[in-house]
Amino acid sequence: MTPDYDVIIIGAGPAGSCCAYTIKRDFPEARVLLLDKASFPRYKPCGGGISPEVQRHVDFDLTEGIDLVCRKVIMTAKGRRYTSERYPLWMVRRDHFDDFLKDKAVSLGVEFHDNSSVCELHQSDEGVICCVEGQPEIRARYAVIAEGAKGTLARKLGIAPHLNVFAALEYEHDQPNPAHELHLDFDRNDSGYAWNFPKSDGQSIGIGGMLKGKAKKTGLNSRLKAYFSLFQQTTDPHPVLQKQHLHGHPIKVYSGKQKLVHGNILLTGEIAGCVDPLSAEGIRPAMQSGILAGKEVAKALKDGNTESLVHYERAFHDAIGRDYQFARIASYLMNTHLNLVLPIVSSQRALNAILSVFSGEARYEDKIALRKIPVVLGQVSSHIRQRIRFKR
Ligand SMILES: Cc1cc2nc3c(=O)[nH]c(=O)nc-3n(C[C@H](O)[C@H](O)[C@H](O)COP(=O)(O)OP(=O)(O)OC[C@H]3O[C@@H](n4cnc5c(N)ncnc54)[C@H](O)[C@@H]3O)c2cc1C
Repeated sequence: MTPDYDVIIIGAGPAGSCCAYTIKRDFPEARVLLLDKASFPRYKPCGGGISPEVQRHVDFDLTEGIDLVCRKVIMTAKGRRYTSERYPLWMVRRDHFDDFLKDKAVSLGVEFHDNSSVCELHQSDEGVICCVEGQPEIRARYAVIAEGAKGTLARKLGIAPHLNVFAALEYEHDQPNPAHELHLDFDRNDSGYAWNFPKSDGQSIGIGGMLKGKAKKTGLNSRLKAYFSLFQQTTDPHPVLQKQHLHGHPIKVYSGKQKLVHGNILLTGEIAGCVDPLSAEGIRPAMQSGILAGKEVAKALKDGNTESLVHYERAFHDAIGRDYQFARIASYLMNTHLNLVLPIVSSQRALNAILSVFSGEARYEDKIALRKIPVVLGQVSSHIRQRIRFKR
């Protein structure tokens, strides 16, 4: 039986749309179907900060998708403020940016259906069978799962990678921040950080980290309120946040090498573990991973060789995973022993290092001084020993 499509892509976030675009660009004969359960343009909880370096990864101009360019970054750590105006950062509104990327794919001939929730996906002799709620089965040679953090479909199939989860709470505030300053604050949480990312007509104010249990449920809310009050003309440390603008969401971060190719099904974007485990940056690597998956699918279609899809795992590791190995160590220390890491983070040099990695000028490998890790680990173990002694 001839499949209805060559490829079905599930999820039209940055990963899915960039994957669809790349397949059509590299192999224009491909019949590509891009599905999303949401109605587009759709809201996505996100700070929307992107490194302009992302432009290097795509062959079309991203300017139209950008909401504003932010030139000033202010970091707070251990009560001190550090400022940088050296690295401009792009801010996007995800409803607009994701719709823009999806339109790029559609402009090359990708077929897009929104309001299409994929409830089942199976491997078959010819490829895959995909079920969209309330519609007849769709057959394709390949499927790419780009469903984002929740990973419901991948879990159902038993192919969801084991990924560490950050809890994040974001408030979309409609009052503009006229100075267009970006704030990062490491003094607001026992793990992770708080942020205020400016938008042309508002601000994304949020807080996140590797929180568990009670801290996740109650801690984030009150800390976000306290952080939010810093940017308001109010002395109330617990202002009322309007529920419709408050969005809690998990962020699944890179947690080591994973299996991303399962027969005719590939995983890409956040569900493949592309999110930076230190900064939680996910948009640029989602686009990158979607492009890498798209290239391998286009090649497999051209050559009629499914086996070659496994090259995607290697390409993902080389472009994304390899450098994240360094970020993972730093992230672990930051999320478990922030008080010990803060003295290192609290400096102008650290801010410059963070921004140089985010801007693509440097890699974690160059910036995370491995010689300092034994020192920090030594501090962590003596801290743990002291606590055990104290408990006795
Ligand atoms: C609060 C918060 C703040 C963040 N801030 C930043 C930031 O400032 N900068 C940054 O780079 N990253 C940030 N991130 C991370 C970033 O948002 C994600 O990593 C990124 O969106 C991942 O892209 P993706 O394409 O993999 O998935 P997504 O963008 O999540 O897209 C997945 C798509 O799949 C669709 N879908 C899911 N299931 C199905 C199904 N069964 N059938 C059909 N469609 C389906 C969804 O509707 C969705 O449109 C933040 C995340 C959070 C939660």
